[in-house]
Amino acid sequence: MKDTIFGKIIRREIPAEIVYEDDETLAFLDIMPNSPGHTLVVPKEPSENMLDISEGSLLSVMKTVKKIAPAIKTAMEADGFNILVNNGTEAGQQVFHTHVHIIPRYKSAAFQKFPPGKPNVKVTPEELAEVAEKIRTTLA
Ligand code: AMP
Repeated sequence: MKDTIFGKIIRREIPAEIVYEDDETLAFLDIMPNSPGHTLVVPKEPSENMLDISEGSLLSVMKTVKKIAPAIKTAMEADGFNILVNNGTEAGQQVFHTHVHIIPRYKSAAFQKFPPGKPNVKVTPEELAEVAEKIRTTLA
């Protein structure tokens, strides 16, 4: 598979707001969040999506999702969350390194639907840093 922007984040070649890391996985904030606290969990072992990911890698990613989703919900004072994987261009996949979206949901009408719904929004690095700190503190 081709190198991707998430490969560069894993290798620390470009910055990201990392909220969790272990030997097999990395979790960082989405730079264009669909809602505040939108987090991506990626395996370090390269794969494009659910079609070619190894069972071991998938288990590691889902273990990380299970571990951090409650902390994200608590830190962001969310009312629920979606766990989502896009597989293939037609399914909306843009980055071809497997990633699981954790998207907090709020009672407030602003962040109800995905998809369709509100487009993702560009946020400042300072806003991302503030959200990441809340999640890291809750996880610690
Ligand atoms: P998908 O459409 O499922 O492939 O999701 C890719 C996600 O990666 C989108 O929600 C993007 O906003 C997000 N994204 C793209 N580049 C970066 C980056 N450098 N750091 C964090 N998230 C990113």
